[in-house]
Amino acid sequence: MTSASAVTDSPAVSDRDHASGEAPRRNPVILLVDDEPAVLAAVARDMRKGFGGRYRIVRAGSGEDALEALRELVRRGEQIAMLVADQRMPGLSGTDYLVDARQIVPSAKRVLLTAYADTEAAIQAINEVDLDYYLLKPWDPPEEELFPVVEDLLTTWEAGAALEAGGVRLIGHRFSRATHELRDFLSRNRVPARWFDVERDGEARQLLKVSGVQEDRLPVALLEDGTVLERPTVLELAERLGVAGQPASDHYDLVIVGGGPAGLAAAVYGASEGVRTIMVEREAPGGQAGMSSRIENYLGFPAGLSGSDLTRRATDQARRLGAELLTLQNTTALRVEGSGRIIELSGGGSLSASTVLIASGVSYRQLEAPGFAELTGQGIYYGAAITEARACADQHVVVIGGANSAGQAAVYFSQYAVRVTMLVRGKSLTRSMSQYLIEQIEALDNVEVRTGAAAVAAEGDGRLQALRIRNADGSEAREDVDACFVFIGARPMTDWLAGVIARDDRGYILAGLDAKVDGWQLPRDPFPLETSVPGVFVAGDVRARSIKRVASAVGEGAMAVSLVHQYLAEA
Ligand SMILES: Cc1cc2nc3c(=O)[nH]c(=O)nc-3n(C[C@H](O)[C@H](O)[C@H](O)COP(=O)(O)OP(=O)(O)OC[C@H]3O[C@@H](n4cnc5c(N)ncnc54)[C@H](O)[C@@H]3O)c2cc1C
Repeated sequence: MTSASAVTDSPAVSDRDHASGEAPRRNPVILLVDDEPAVLAAVARDMRKGFGGRYRIVRAGSGEDALEALRELVRRGEQIAMLVADQRMPGLSGTDYLVDARQIVPSAKRVLLTAYADTEAAIQAINEVDLDYYLLKPWDPPEEELFPVVEDLLTTWEAGAALEAGGVRLIGHRFSRATHELRDFLSRNRVPARWFDVERDGEARQLLKVSGVQEDRLPVALLEDGTVLERPTVLELAERLGVAGQPASDHYDLVIVGGGPAGLAAAVYGASEGVRTIMVEREAPGGQAGMSSRIENYLGFPAGLSGSDLTRRATDQARRLGAELLTLQNTTALRVEGSGRIIELSGGGSLSASTVLIASGVSYRQLEAPGFAELTGQGIYYGAAITEARACADQHVVVIGGANSAGQAAVYFSQYAVRVTMLVRGKSLTRSMSQYLIEQIEALDNVEVRTGAAAVAAEGDGRLQALRIRNADGSEAREDVDACFVFIGARPMTDWLAGVIARDDRGYILAGLDAKVDGWQLPRDPFPLETSVPGVFVAGDVRARSIKRVASAVGEGAMAVSLVHQYLAEA
């Protein structure tokens, strides 16, 4: 029994834990709530059958009882993996219950049980409670209708829980650029790690004492094998963790530059179609999409999905199909040697290929105002910097920009920060942002949108403390700000291709008939995604006149592989 009002009906610890002889660890909880006893019993029976070995199934007969049980479970330090709620209940409806439950356990997956007639309510709930899935009753047979969906959600939850539970322990100052870069690297490369702020976490000082590290040697990374790395660079840490890797071969059919959606799609399609493929990524797979807190318009995910979830799925898929992924390597030059295409790497080596796909996307534009460069990583961040979200609790956050990426960030940080101010240069959001996001922002009490406003300076001693803001009426004021996230557009980083590949005047790469420039040497026209160098293709945001969307980047990545086949067949 969990509380007077909730019932547990699967073992508190898994068989595996008993067998290992170690102190048993309690299984995470799946909490079910339905006011109809027969339906509750049926869903509990099926969940027990599918997941009872790994999870504890707890039942409650009303939303109120479930909330009480949830508070008690959290007080006891239990992990809550998933909440499943019926929509139609007297008193608290399923949606209202999930709104309250989300405050208590924000990381638990949320599933609504609905009858066909309640589908509208379920779709509404996607925005209201950040719903992960709605399940239509009845879910028969459970092996087809229930288990795959629940398994998928639990795998995603487990991946997040594992990241927070173990591995590397990183100790540093929150407003230190070096610490921020290491945290960002660990999080974006999905390395299980725990982060300790030396100013806030008592445990941090204890760990430093035990490891014999002085506070002026921060940040420090404590690895699982006992290694202590004082002030490591990202590359040093990556190498010690085996994240960076080395190419397995010296020649490939296809070298992909960039691991965003376009590059990952090409890796999946290339590897699955027998093309020897390697993808080179300078930071972490996922690209811009990997930094999105929630992608709402990607086909097939009605409840949206986070960029990190999409990245995890795509990276696993590419690896499983046999693509090699080489991270923390920048490509620095492209050379043409007869039919070979040589890519130089920042680590000093090079890769030889029959074909190359440039999928290097775009990078954030820096805000050129006094103080911004000095305070980057110390309260000023480019992109959503999801690692910083929790630290923004009870703080004032400013988001600069008026496009979808800024809107998503404002919605995301509003869950953590006490107040979010959006500074938008234009007169309104309508020209730059999708309507669904504008509506979400309007519904949030703690988000203020200031149009015609700009940040003209950042101030702070070692960390951001205030912004000077110019308002629409021309007045200027200094405002206390704890963190500022900048989204003011992006540009392609293609200078390393100058003189080799034809680009437009902004650095975007020309493709297809646009790439048939002086010096094009083949009797045929370039293929649609082919650049001015035969056998070198381009996909995604870095292509001139591309549509800046995840789906189009993925589509172009897949299409490029089919053109690679055509090219290789002709060669
Ligand atoms: C915060 C945010 C939210 C967004 N939300 C949405 C959304 O909801 N829906 C939507 O459709 N679109 C969204 N977008 C746009 C979408 O993410 C992009 O259109 C998409 O990611 C482009 O994919 P890409 O693969 O072309 O390039 P990118 O995603 O830019 O990836 C390029 C990759 O190449 C790497 N790279 C660059 N140069 C090199 C080099 N020389 N060597 C090695 N690697 C290199 C980079 O590190 C990067 O990882 C969002 C963008 C942002 C920033």
